[in-house]
Amino acid sequence: MLRKTVFLSSLFLASLGAADRPNILFLFSDDHATQAISAYPGGILDDVAPTPNIDRIAKEGMLFENSYCANAICGPSRANILTGKHSHLNGYLDNQSSLFDGLQTTFPPLLQEAGYQTALIGKWHLGSTPVGFDHYEILPGQGSYYNPDFIQMDGSKKRHHGHCNDVVTNLAIEQIDAMVKGDEPFMMMAQFKAPHRNWSPALRHVDLFEGQEIPEPDTLFDDYSNRHPSLKEQAMSVENHMYWGHDMKFNGENLFPEHFASGLPNAEYRRMDDEQKAVWDASYEPRNKAFIKAMEAGELSDKEITQWKYQRYMKDYLGVIRSMDEGIGKILAHLEETGLADNTIVIYSSDQGFYLGEHGWYDKRWMFEESFKMPFVIRWPGVIEPGSTDKHLIQNIDYAPTFLDVAGAEIPAEMQGRSLVPLLKKEAPGDWRNTVYYQYTGERVHEVAAHDGIRTDRYKLMYFPDDDTYNLFDLKTDPQEMNSVHESSDYAEVFEEMKKKLAETREKLDVHSAILPAHRLKQAWWKKRHEAKTKLAAETKHDLIFIGDSITQGWEGKGKATWEEYYGDRKALNLGFSGDRTQHVIWRLNNGELRNQRDAKAIVMMIGTNNTGHTEQDPEETAQAIERILSILRARCPEAKVLLLGVFPRAPKPEDTKRKINQEINKRIAKFADGERVHYLDMDDVFLDEDGNLPKEIMPDYLHLVPQGYEMWAEAIEPKLKEFGL
Ligand code: CA
Repeated sequence: MLRKTVFLSSLFLASLGAADRPNILFLFSDDHATQAISAYPGGILDDVAPTPNIDRIAKEGMLFENSYCANAICGPSRANILTGKHSHLNGYLDNQSSLFDGLQTTFPPLLQEAGYQTALIGKWHLGSTPVGFDHYEILPGQGSYYNPDFIQMDGSKKRHHGHCNDVVTNLAIEQIDAMVKGDEPFMMMAQFKAPHRNWSPALRHVDLFEGQEIPEPDTLFDDYSNRHPSLKEQAMSVENHMYWGHDMKFNGENLFPEHFASGLPNAEYRRMDDEQKAVWDASYEPRNKAFIKAMEAGELSDKEITQWKYQRYMKDYLGVIRSMDEGIGKILAHLEETGLADNTIVIYSSDQGFYLGEHGWYDKRWMFEESFKMPFVIRWPGVIEPGSTDKHLIQNIDYAPTFLDVAGAEIPAEMQGRSLVPLLKKEAPGDWRNTVYYQYTGERVHEVAAHDGIRTDRYKLMYFPDDDTYNLFDLKTDPQEMNSVHESSDYAEVFEEMKKKLAETREKLDVHSAILPAHRLKQAWWKKRHEAKTKLAAETKHDLIFIGDSITQGWEGKGKATWEEYYGDRKALNLGFSGDRTQHVIWRLNNGELRNQRDAKAIVMMIGTNNTGHTEQDPEETAQAIERILSILRARCPEAKVLLLGVFPRAPKPEDTKRKINQEINKRIAKFADGERVHYLDMDDVFLDEDGNLPKEIMPDYLHLVPQGYEMWAEAIEPKLKEFGL
């Protein structure tokens, strides 16, 4: 879908001077915590590991002290930024099961329409091909630190010699030079891999902190008392979850398996050439040998071993930031040399924060401040007062609206964030948000429990759905979040107030059960069926896929003969699961049932009647979830035409509440038909008599079909399937 048009520019953009249409340079990194940026106040690392070039953006612009992500993992944060929406609505909930649907509304194509050149360099990490960029060169997946490969626009890979930070810097500068030749302003996202795990510094920095002691955070030896029990169950501690090879940079066999995790070697080491390895070895090997010697001599206590790991971790983490900060300095200097500095907005941010030993952790995921926070510093000469600080609660969903606002483009109503431009001008609207919402839906790595919650300027409420419990923190009296006060009588009123606020926030942001992925793995038959379908999908490509609940599953029962007749020879897959609601379908489709189905030609979907039957769910919510499923299908089965069926009528009489709810769903989902990819077919006429009554002969329980009903269904959709080329 090419949307690069410039027709808008002739209308209203022509009336704007060049200064009103600044370039946007979005410098972005991965896992860079504000504790490791010296511009942010109060960090224990500022003296040992300053970040002068990032700080310069803040000094010449504005620093946001209360900047938060919506979901503290790499891919999801990037999806929040592109869509201006929370994860449950853009669908990119976690790194494990998601494939970003790039054809949903995102800001880059809208900037193109507004007359911007757009480019993306570096880490992408969303699985799908970038959409809305005139130019991109991206790292495959997580990418590599040493001699990294970059995916080119034609799909080929190009290997660059050197460190990834230097390569991203150079490619970004090259691209600025290419774009400045055009008449249009540019927006470039230059996205570093750094300082993501496994924290491999540029070779000129492997000795950067040699002989120095990195200060330890107060909570390095947190015992996780007075908070949710899942804090003890995580698998992201410096003490217990550092790999011998990958994280701690030892070559060879794990000599101390009781202290180090085995099985993940340092893949970065293997990427280096002999010359690079020699530099690396000269730095790491003596230090590694000294440690091994001390260990073998029994000289180190458990605590000291953890402290050693912390030093190794932090020296590498801070070391990898150094070349990125240098690169940012180089890019800033280039903007000046080329006269672009005055008309270019420069932003530095990172996809989320990180634990630098706080709570004994590395990694992210939790709603605790260290990973919830995102750095956000921005320079905009002539608009932002240099050296200013803003304390409003901002979030990564605000970036897309901000960029569109800067470009003079319309901000789509579906975006949940707000433009930061008034804050940059110190004209904050009186109704700026007083809570930020966070959502982590769980992922099968690091064992962090699912939770969502809100933060106000003083309090943080976290909700854990697995055991239906809360944690409440008073950030004024307990900034390190060591003690949940949800059971304290002193906070009873605050607790009630925060719970009310959380409910209101969820409602406002359309967080509801129909759209939040849910599985039924505790039900043995469901688990077995899911596993069987996943296996079938992995083994066989299908042309035709049916998706739904018991009515679709019924093709394997009462509808079997008709299925054989119509679909027996058509490579068809039945993904109907009895009792499923939209939330279960969302989970299943993202967890293997569409694996290997990229070439599917047609999908027939009918889902939603159990949302109605179970809770009489608001039809708006069910419809929103169906729209979400259509987005999943677009990402996973890009070639498929979808025949979206109206939810079948239920209950004998037209005045029945559940019947009406289904009709309300259908009114909404009919609008999802675009005449190309998505087609809609209402089945009321097929099953109902002329008075709108549902004949018992077709649906004896007024919900499920008899064999004849399946024949009627097959006949009704056959013309569409033929039209789809089946
Ligand atoms: Ca990240």
